[in-house]
Amino acid sequence: MQIRSEVPISSLTTFQNEGTVREVVSVDTLADLRSFLETHRVFSILGKGSNTLINPETSIPTFLQISPQWLPPEVRPGNRLLAGAGCTVHQVMKACATAGLTGLEFAAGVPASIGGMVAMNFGCYGRDVSQVVTRVQVVTFSGEDLWLAPEELGFGYRHSRVQTEPWIVVAAEFQLESADMDTVKATQARFVADRLAKQPLRARTFGSTFKNPPNQYAGALIESIGFKGKPVGAVGFSAQHANFLENLGGGTFDAALHLIETVQAQVWATHQVVLETEVKLVR
Ligand SMILES: Cc1cc2nc3c(=O)[nH]c(=O)nc-3n(C[C@H](O)[C@H](O)[C@H](O)COP(=O)(O)OP(=O)(O)OC[C@H]3O[C@@H](n4cnc5c(N)ncnc54)[C@H](O)[C@@H]3O)c2cc1C
Repeated sequence: MQIRSEVPISSLTTFQNEGTVREVVSVDTLADLRSFLETHRVFSILGKGSNTLINPETSIPTFLQISPQWLPPEVRPGNRLLAGAGCTVHQVMKACATAGLTGLEFAAGVPASIGGMVAMNFGCYGRDVSQVVTRVQVVTFSGEDLWLAPEELGFGYRHSRVQTEPWIVVAAEFQLESADMDTVKATQARFVADRLAKQPLRARTFGSTFKNPPNQYAGALIESIGFKGKPVGAVGFSAQHANFLENLGGGTFDAALHLIETVQAQVWATHQVVLETEVKLVR
């Protein structure tokens, strides 16, 4: 178990806003996680922070992370891949390329963790986690260790029951297909190139700020009210992809939240459409 104090948010989230959090605890084993749960009642779970905006003034005292060392990606019989929640997409892509496994390339290039992908039902290019996951290991806040089937996870658009139940994802298994190693690598590279062409992949963002409302695109709505590529102090919606909010340098939680709420209000006033945040706010 690793315990760190006064940790810069810039090292915990991809938006990298200013400020620190009080404590970050990273656990490597089930025993560690159970002892953490015995001593901590109020905490927030963090993966790679690629969908999270943290307020440095939050009253949450502790952030819990599952260490990437808990369970590195492991190929299982029948073209399955088992990976700990703390594993990164990068680690998983490498394991898939080495083993010649196809099916997860839609996530290539995204700085996420397996736990965050399951919690959010990560998806793009017409695919999502619910279509490839076979079982998920969770530990409840009371320390119970369970394996859940996809039907028990209540997957929906950027949603799973992990977001509402007292569950910590510790591992997930995926059903993939066998493919030639070079083909897997080439497919991964193609998805990364496509993202680079369409998204500010290397900028400080948390991906899509808002969920797409039914039959509409959040990016088009943001553009329609004139906020695409318009800096507002140290933050602004990207000129490359209007739904990506960028920290342009020195961006704060307050500035990001203010712009998010401004856009929500103006889209409502102009189109009578509710923009729901996809990014998870830790207030
Ligand atoms: C450049 C870029 C591109 C992106 N592209 C996409 C895309 O194409 N499709 C898409 O869906 N998203 C995309 N995202 C958003 C983000 O990568 C996903 O939402 C991803 O699933 C978040 O994973 P994470 O590990 O970073 O989660 P975090 O941001 O750390 O956490 C997200 C949520 O999951 C919860 N959580 C994290 N780990 C666990 C766990 N082990 N147990 C229980 N709950 C947990 C957190 O409490 C939080 O509520 C993108 C982000 C960036 C920066």
